[in-house]
Amino acid sequence: MPQVTCSKATAKVINVQAIEIAARLLGVENPIHIRTTKGRRITGCHRFSIFDPVHRITFSTAESAEDQSKTLWHELTHAAQTDQLGLVDYAKQYRSQNRSVGYRQNKFEVQARDCGDWHDALSLV
Ligand SMILES: [Zn+2]
Repeated sequence: MPQVTCSKATAKVINVQAIEIAARLLGVENPIHIRTTKGRRITGCHRFSIFDPVHRITFSTAESAEDQSKTLWHELTHAAQTDQLGLVDYAKQYRSQNRSVGYRQNKFEVQARDCGDWHDALSLV
């Protein structure tokens, strides 16, 4: 089970146990660090680097609880995609999809949006 860490402030918002379960279901292997932002500039973001092999997920608490949970499922799906393909292949394929079919139809974004709907079954906040 991938390790999930966060700040004290974020721990008040998220359900760490549910996130561990979701990460396991999705096939995330590397550790996950979650932080929140109060801003509306982003709804969610996933970063991963070979120099810092921790999935760093940020999401905005300005959204509704339902949308926060959806966003977490979405970003955890990107974490799983990264771990399943490896960072280099994931980055290559992701960019290639963006070029050929665009962001909305990018298969990685389609899958992440689909997994976002799993918040109905398991809320992450
Ligand atoms: Zn996405």
